[in-house]
Amino acid sequence: MENSTDLGMLIQFVYVASGALFIYGLKMLGSAATARRGNMLSAIAMLVAILAALMDQGIVEYQWILLGFVVGAIIGGAAARMVQMTSMPEMVALFNGFGGMASLLVGWAALSGATSTFTLITIALSILIGGLTFTGSLVAYGKLSETIGSGAVMFKGQQVVNSLIVLGILGSAVMFCQHPDTMQWLYLIVGLSLLFGVMAVIPIGGADMPVVISLLNSYSGLAACAAGFAVNNNILIVAGSLVGASGIVLTQIMCKAMNRSLSNVLFSGFGSVSAATGEVEGEIKPISVEDAYYVLEAASNVAFVPGYGMAVAQAQHVVKELCELLEENGAEVSFGIHPVAGRMPGHMNVLLAEADVPYDQLLEMDDINPRMENVDVAIVIGANDVVNPAAREEESSPIYGMPIINVDSARTVFVLKRSMASGFAGIENPLFYKDNTRMLFGDAKESIGGLIREFE
Ligand code: NDP
Repeated sequence: MENSTDLGMLIQFVYVASGALFIYGLKMLGSAATARRGNMLSAIAMLVAILAALMDQGIVEYQWILLGFVVGAIIGGAAARMVQMTSMPEMVALFNGFGGMASLLVGWAALSGATSTFTLITIALSILIGGLTFTGSLVAYGKLSETIGSGAVMFKGQQVVNSLIVLGILGSAVMFCQHPDTMQWLYLIVGLSLLFGVMAVIPIGGADMPVVISLLNSYSGLAACAAGFAVNNNILIVAGSLVGASGIVLTQIMCKAMNRSLSNVLFSGFGSVSAATGEVEGEIKPISVEDAYYVLEAASNVAFVPGYGMAVAQAQHVVKELCELLEENGAEVSFGIHPVAGRMPGHMNVLLAEADVPYDQLLEMDDINPRMENVDVAIVIGANDVVNPAAREEESSPIYGMPIINVDSARTVFVLKRSMASGFAGIENPLFYKDNTRMLFGDAKESIGGLIREFE
C-alpha cells in the first residue's frame, strides 16, 4: 500500500516537472536562437510524461500500448520523412485532426466506469471538441492542399442549419449526462460534432484560413484537456491547456494580422471567389533576367518579400545567395515578413532560418512598411495576397482592410511568379499592373539563379 502511494507521488512529481519543462520549452520557442532547443526540451518532457503515465496504476495490458506505439511511430516517422516541405501546413492540419480524434476516443473509453456527472460532462466535451476538430481539420487539409478548392462554401439558411446542429449537440449532451447507459445520445453527440466540424469550416475560405488553422490547433488542445479531466490525468490537462491557450493567442495574432475579429472570420463567409474578380487598369510589364540584373546592380537598398511561392520553388537558399551578392555589391538588404505569408504561421521564418538568413534581417510588416519609400527595389518572391494593394484601395475587395506589405511604395517592384495566376484568396492583384512593377515570370528559384549568374 505504502509503495503504491510513493509511486503515485513520484508520478505526480514527474508530471509537475514535465509541465514546467513544457512551459519553459514554449518560452524558448519565442526566439529563433533558442527555438530548436525549446522544441527538443518539450519533446523530452513529453517522453518523460508518457513514461510516467505508463507506470500509473490501472494499466493492465501493455501489448496494446506497444502495438499502438510501433504502428504510430512507423506512420508518423514515414509521413514526416516523406512529406514535401510545401505540404507541411497540410500535415500540421492533419495532425491537429488526429489529436482531436484521439481525444474523442479517450473520452469515449473513459465512459466505462464513469459515474459522476462531472466526468460525464468532460466525456461529452472531449467527444464534442475532439469530433469537430477532427472533421474541421480534414476540411482545412482539403482546402490547404486545394483538393476541395480554397473558397468559401455558402448556401441559403446555413446559419439556421448550424444553429440547429449546435442545439442538437447541446440537447444530446444533456440527455447523455442524464442517461449515460443509453448509447444513442452518445452516438448522436459523435455524429453531430463530426458534422459540425465540416459545417463550421466550409464557409471560411480564401485568406481567412490562417485563423482557422490556429483555432483548430487550439481546439485540439482543449479536447485533450477535457479528455484529461475525463480520465483524471493531470499532465494531459496541463498539456491540453497549454496547447489550447497558445492556440488562442496565435488565433488572436492572426486575426490582428488580418484586421478582422474572430466572429467576423467565423460567421461572415469571407472569400467567396465570385465577389473577388474586379477589373484592373494598367498593363503588365514583363522584364528579363538581364534587365532585372542591371536595375539590381545599381540598387543600394533592396527588400525581399517572400510568400508561398518561395516555399513551392524551394528558393530560400538561392535567395540567401543573392542577398549576399547584393550586400557585397554595397546594397542594404532586408526581408519583409507578413504574418500570414505562406500556408502556416511562421512559414517564411522557418524557410529563411533553414537557409541561415540572419534573424535580424527579417523585419515584421509594421517595421518594414515605414521604410518602403526608401527601398530601391522590392523583390516579391512568390507572394501575392500579402502584397495586394486592393486590401488598401478597393472597398469591394474581400481582403479590404487586411494590412499588407506596401511593396508598391518602393521605387521599383519585381514580382517573381510563373504566371498571372491568383494567390490563395483567388483574387486579382492590381500590384502587377502598377507603373513601377515589373513581372519576372518563371519559377522563382530559376529566376533568382539567373540573377546570381549575372552577378557572378
Ligand atoms: P499566395 O497564395 O497569395 O500567392 C502565392 C503565389 O506564389 C502565387 O500567386 C503563385 O503564382 C506563386 N508561385 C507558386 N509557385 C511558384 C514558383 N515555383 N515560383 C514562383 N512563384 C510561384 O501567397 P502569399 O504568401 O502571398 O499569401 C498567403 C495566402 O495563404 C494568404 O491568402 C493567406 O491568408 C493564406 N493562408 C495562410 C496561412 C498561414 O498560416 N500563413 C494558412 C492558410 C492560408 P504562380 O502560380 O503564377 O506562380
